[in-house]
Amino acid sequence: MKLPSFEPFKTKMVEPIYRSTREEREVWIKDAHFNLFNLRSDYVTIDLLTDSGTGAMSDRQWAALMQGDESYAGASSYYNLKDAIKEITGFNYFLPTHQGRAAENVLFSVLVKEGDLVPGNSHFDTTKGHIEFRKAEAVDCTIDIAYDFKARHPFKGNVDLNKLEEVLKKNPREKISCIIVTITNNTAGGQPVSMANLKGVRQLADRYGVKFILDSARFAENAWFIKTREEGYANREIREIVLEMFSYADGMTMSSKKDAIVNMGGFIGFRDEDLFQKASMFNIIFEGFITYGGMSGRDMNALARGLYEGTDFEYLSSRIRQVGLLGARMKDYGIPVLEPFGGHAIFIDALDFLRSVPKEEFPAQILAVEIYIEGGIRGTEIGTLMADRDPVTRENRFTGRELVRLAVPRRVYSDNHMDYVAAVAKNVFDRKESIKRGLRIIKEAPILRHFTVELEKL
Ligand SMILES: *Cc1c(COP(=O)(O)O)cnc(C)c1O
Repeated sequence: MKLPSFEPFKTKMVEPIYRSTREEREVWIKDAHFNLFNLRSDYVTIDLLTDSGTGAMSDRQWAALMQGDESYAGASSYYNLKDAIKEITGFNYFLPTHQGRAAENVLFSVLVKEGDLVPGNSHFDTTKGHIEFRKAEAVDCTIDIAYDFKARHPFKGNVDLNKLEEVLKKNPREKISCIIVTITNNTAGGQPVSMANLKGVRQLADRYGVKFILDSARFAENAWFIKTREEGYANREIREIVLEMFSYADGMTMSSKKDAIVNMGGFIGFRDEDLFQKASMFNIIFEGFITYGGMSGRDMNALARGLYEGTDFEYLSSRIRQVGLLGARMKDYGIPVLEPFGGHAIFIDALDFLRSVPKEEFPAQILAVEIYIEGGIRGTEIGTLMADRDPVTRENRFTGRELVRLAVPRRVYSDNHMDYVAAVAKNVFDRKESIKRGLRIIKEAPILRHFTVELEKL
C-alpha cells in the first residue's frame, strides 16, 4: 500500500479557539460596520482573512530568535539573513524592510515617477497603491484566461507577453519604471507563473531595456507549481527552481510574512550594486539603517531560518494539499470556486453564488459577511471595494471580479478546521436565495479603502 503523506511537523504549543454564537456575531459585525478588518480577532472562530504574518513559526525559528543580535550596525543576524537570501534567491545585495509594502516604498522611490507606467501581471493592492500614490499607472497584462474562473490553465498567473510588448513598444523607455511580475499572482487567485513565462518577460525586458522586478511573497509556492506542473521540472529541487526563477529578474520585493513563515518582515533583493546604493538612501530615511531596516536582529534570524523551511518540498506539498482540500470540499457542495485552486487560498465567485445582489452593492463583501455570521469565519473581499475608485474619474472600478478569499495560514489549522469552513459555506449556499441585497458605503478612504471602509446593510 502506498503510504499517505503527512505534515512534516508536529504541534508543540496550542492556542484555544472561542466558540461564539450567531447572535453574538450579528451584533459584532454590525458594530464593525460590516468590515471584517474591524472585527476583534477574539470574535473570529477560524481566521482566513489572510495568510500574511499568520503562520506558526517552528521551534528552530523560536530558537533563532533567542540568538538575535540587536546591534545597530553589522549585526550577525543581518549577515545570517544576507547569507540565506544569497543562497535561496541568488541576489548579492539586499535591504531589510519592516514588511513587503515598505520594500515597495523604498524601491519605487528610486524607480517610479509621476506619469510612469508599471506593466506586469496583476499588481497586488499595496503595489498598486504605491504606484498610484506616485501618480503612475499599474498596467495589468495578465493573460485573459485568468478572468475565466472555470477555465483550466496550469499557469493562470502568467503575463500576456503580447500585451506587455504592446505597452513597451508604444511608450518611451523613460516612461516605464520597471516590469513587475507577482509570484504567485495573488490578485488573479494565487495562480502561478510558469518558468517559460518568466523567461519571456526577461527577453522583453532586455529587448526594451527595462528592469524586471519579481514581487515574490509566494515565490516558494510558485516554485512548487512549476515543479508539479511544468514540463522539465518534475525532477528538479524546489531550491534549484527558485534560483532559476530569480535568475531572470533584476531585483525582488518580498513580504516575508508569506512564504518565509515569519510574523513580520520584508526585504528587497538586487542584482546590481547601483540600484542597491540608490535604494539604500531611501531605506535609511523610511526604514532604518541598511543592516536592520525596520527589523529586529531576532526577527532577521527567524526570517533567515524561515527561508529554508518555506522552500522545503514536503512542507509545500502539505500546505498546498490542505488548501486544495478546502477547495475540493466546497466544490463537492456545489459552491462556485475559482479553479484550479490557488496555492494559499480558495476564492469563491460571489457573482455566481449570489446572483440577485446588484454589482453596485458589493456582492463579495456581503457574502463574506454572511459567511462570518454563519460560522465565525473571516475571509476577505477581492472585488469592487478592494479595486478602489478610478484615480481620475473617482468612479467605482467594476473589474468583473467579485471574490471572497479564504486564505489559509501556514502550519496553523488542521484538516478538521477546513471541513468546518466548507460546511459553513455550504449552509450559506443553502440559503443563498434569501440574500438579495448588499451593502452601501458610509465612509471610505481615498486609497486602499477596503481596510477601513464603513458600510451599512441595504
Ligand atoms: C502581502 C503582499 C505584499 C505586501 O506585503 P506586506 O508585508 O503585507 O506589506 C506585496 N505583494 C504581494 C504579492 C503580497 O502578497
